[in-house]
Amino acid sequence: MKIAVSACLLGVNCKYNGGNNRNEAVLSFVKGHEILPVCPEAAGGLPTPRIPCEIVCGTVTDKNGQSRDRAYREGARRCLDEIRAAGAELAVLQPRSPSCGVRQIYDGTFSGKLIEGSGVFAALLKENGIPVREPEDLKEEET
Ligand code: SF4
Repeated sequence: MKIAVSACLLGVNCKYNGGNNRNEAVLSFVKGHEILPVCPEAAGGLPTPRIPCEIVCGTVTDKNGQSRDRAYREGARRCLDEIRAAGAELAVLQPRSPSCGVRQIYDGTFSGKLIEGSGVFAALLKENGIPVREPEDLKEEET
């Protein structure tokens, strides 16, 4: 199976602070499969490191109050195109990110509070019928 994975979960230093979210459970899950690393924020042309963003009233906005919505949505669209072109059947995504979060995101106040919702990339994949999972879901999955 071909699996798209948030690049930061694979250990790529593409996170907003220049680090990564390397996850051994994800690496073990994807072993033996074809992996497509994706980072929609990098694909949208954003630099690393970058100013952290949250979704504020539906618009991806950085901590300084500047809209980054266009770059986030463009990056999400580019990564969706890559996933389609590669024929990936599943995406494993980093939780809580304004791009990749599947079930929860920060509430837009930059205070660390989580709410139910999806990042713009995860939402786009769902809308387009690509199954999305977070690392904690993988125990239940069979590949
Ligand atoms: S956009 Fe997704 S893949 Fe890129 S750093 Fe953020 S969580 Fe990781």
